Amino acid sequence: MNAQDRVLIEQNTLFEGMDFSNVEYMLERCTLRELEAGEKLLEPEVENRHLYMILSGELRVHLVGQSTLEHVSITAGECTGEISLVDGKNPSALVVAVKPTCVLVVPHDTVWSMVDQSHDVARNLLAIIAGRMRNDNSALISSHNKRAQYEHQATVDALTGVHNRRWMSEAFPRVLHRCNCDSSHSAILVIDIDLFKRVNDTYGHLVGDLALKALAKIMQANLRPHDLLVRYGGEEFAILMPDTEIDQARSIAEGLRAMVEANEIRNGEVVFKITISVGIAPITQEGSFEKFFELADRALYRAKKSGRNRVEVSV
Ligand code: GH3
Ligand code: MG
Ligand code: MG
Repeated sequence: MNAQDRVLIEQNTLFEGMDFSNVEYMLERCTLRELEAGEKLLEPEVENRHLYMILSGELRVHLVGQSTLEHVSITAGECTGEISLVDGKNPSALVVAVKPTCVLVVPHDTVWSMVDQSHDVARNLLAIIAGRMRNDNSALISSHNKRAQYEHQATVDALTGVHNRRWMSEAFPRVLHRCNCDSSHSAILVIDIDLFKRVNDTYGHLVGDLALKALAKIMQANLRPHDLLVRYGGEEFAILMPDTEIDQARSIAEGLRAMVEANEIRNGEVVFKITISVGIAPITQEGSFEKFFELADRALYRAKKSGRNRVEVSV
């Protein structure tokens, strides 16, 4: 151990703010270890009886059970292995050298004897562990937030911001089940833009996208808070209306239809309107979500057949 190593050891956070000569004796019980890039220092499966002070290089900590993307980096002046020092269990993380790294290997009993001798060492050790807990917590929170963000993206349609087909196939049967348990009436609506191909052919696909967004916005703004709107296909939407009698569903659908018909869609000089056809099926106690959806779709087909821009109820 040369003079430079000694200086680096003195600068370790474990000895912060204290007179190092009080614990200098411990150096005799420690060894230096050189790690190559990629070499593992700590593994959750392997017992650990040492605290490691990093003198140079860099170690990366991968939390167990977390994706390998979640990690913290520890460099000169920091240490690792302190969790198994305190709880006597295997390491809580995988610690790997990311470049050639030199560590001071301090046996656990030597650390404990320093703790017995020096309040400063004890206080610094607590601070190191508190810092590690904070790091682990923020890694967990950030991983949780990322997962929630991915889940949200997977169930929301990027163009219109309403839920997508995947969400519908999970959420609608759940809501229906609850309605069935409450013996309440509900309704399902399927909505399709009339002659939408013509809009795309006349104004282009991007303007067609604007029309889709405008339609989603009108419907979202005019539904009740508990109505569930999804875009389940290209220009096809569905609405589940819990606790709704069929006449009420028809009148809401008629209102939406009229609002869409009256709404002007503008893009620069281009101004046009679209219309929608709507098929509705009442949801009764018997039958699956797929069956009710099919009935609403058949009613939609009749609305198209009868001239479009209409609301039809399943008979
Ligand atoms: P109908 O009244 O019978 O429904 O006629 P339609 O032209 O609307 O019906 P069709 O199913 O033949 O065409 C639907 C069109 O919707 C075809 C497709 O180009 C368009 N479309 C589907 N998804 C999108 C989209 O995300 N953006 C745009 N701009 N157009 C889309
Ligand atoms: Mg269609
Ligand atoms: Mg259409």
